Amino acid sequence: MAQVLSDLEYARSERVPEDLNPFSISRQQFDRALPFLPTLKQGLVEFLKSPLRTVTVCFPIELDDGSVKTFTGHRVLHSHVRGPGKGGIRFHPGVTVDEVRALAAWMTWKCAIVDVPFGGAKGGVVCDPKDLSQHELRRITRRYITGLGDTIGPNTDIPAPDMYTDENTMAWIYDTYAMMHPGANNLPVVTGKPVSVGGTHGRREATARGCLYATERLIERGEVSGLSSLKNARVVIQGAGNVGRIAAELFTEAGARVIAISDSAGGIYAEQGLDIEQVIRFKDDHGSFARFPGTTRLTNEELLEIECDILIPAALENQITVENAARIGAKMICEGANGPTSPAADEILQARGIPLLPDILANAGGVTVSYFEWVQNNENQTWDLDLVNARLRRKMRDAVDAVADRQLKIREQTSQGPSLRTSALVVAIERVAEVTLQRGIWP
Ligand code: NAD
Repeated sequence: MAQVLSDLEYARSERVPEDLNPFSISRQQFDRALPFLPTLKQGLVEFLKSPLRTVTVCFPIELDDGSVKTFTGHRVLHSHVRGPGKGGIRFHPGVTVDEVRALAAWMTWKCAIVDVPFGGAKGGVVCDPKDLSQHELRRITRRYITGLGDTIGPNTDIPAPDMYTDENTMAWIYDTYAMMHPGANNLPVVTGKPVSVGGTHGRREATARGCLYATERLIERGEVSGLSSLKNARVVIQGAGNVGRIAAELFTEAGARVIAISDSAGGIYAEQGLDIEQVIRFKDDHGSFARFPGTTRLTNEELLEIECDILIPAALENQITVENAARIGAKMICEGANGPTSPAADEILQARGIPLLPDILANAGGVTVSYFEWVQNNENQTWDLDLVNARLRRKMRDAVDAVADRQLKIREQTSQGPSLRTSALVVAIERVAEVTLQRGIWP
């Protein structure tokens, strides 16, 4: 008789190593939601799982030393059913087309969960920003955007920041696109711009702030056993970029204690809590945390296993896998990063009763405030910071409620307990499928 193995049994069996291809992970996650979507038209499944289009561009850049180097970049539009594609651009040596495809699909689900009128997209350039000057990065950005041509646009596909791109990169994207389309309001072509170039107040902190609001709401709902508030909660953060370092600041402000934080070179730990202001200043001055006094040094692997209340992976994909999920020492996980947890690890954490706020919910604050920026750009308006944060808080709390309520409902109806990730996907897939059918299948 044929034996059906769960992802976890499959990953643990010696026959096949765990499949950590991000695109295949995004499809596996989708498949886990399918049993809870009995009315979904079967003919839509492949359409909803697949990207609409993938564009790859190849271009040469003159480096500062006069030599020439060729770079490759991708842009994937996963869905524009609910609105124009939306998604960040990543500069990283590990960028692959399958990674960009997965990230684009996750953007579709994320936008549906926070209910902003966008589809999903993502971009990436294969390069190592640590080896490139600002001038070289600007040339790469301009050639990449020129290569994409009219596949991006204020009403078609709207980029934003992601790993190793920031508001300067977004200003160059805007400027390049504006050079190609003179005489129009081109500000809504990209979000995450500096406030002085049409950016919005609160976008820089939005992803981390969204993680904070979502975590607060989950705890408030009593979903995290042994944790009743953020007061004195022990927080561990992997990554110290836009998401990680601002999460460290905001969780500290909210009364939590950040006991460990890392960057690509490793982490530091102090049981009594770190002075985050000083730690960040130290990293800015010295390039890493490594020699910060009075702390214990850790590898990134060790950091993930520290006993704590809240673990925030805020760096790369596939950090929590079948290899270490059984040793994760947190009471809950908030995925600041995209794709940090593998499907087999999801199963282990679920079995261990560790609630996990999935990326498509937890880090949706970034795209939510990007949407606010796009609205302001289209209307020539400027919202103040309090308004942006109040609207973000509302969106994040509503999204957590929609997902956690759905999880409860499925439990009541089926006596099965899907994870928050699966429940979030159920909500998102249902919303995208509904609009697909309401619009009518073309022709
Ligand atoms: P960033 O470029 O600002 O920072 C990346 C950080 O990752 C670096 O500072 C470094 O500290 C850390 N890092 C890199 N390699 C590491 C390693 N091997 N181990 C530990 N840390 C390592 O990037 P970001 O914008 O903060 O993005 C981080 C994650 O959050 C990504 O998964 C990204 O997709 C996701 N995300 C970002 C946003 C956003 O608005 N920027 C929105 C949603 C999701």
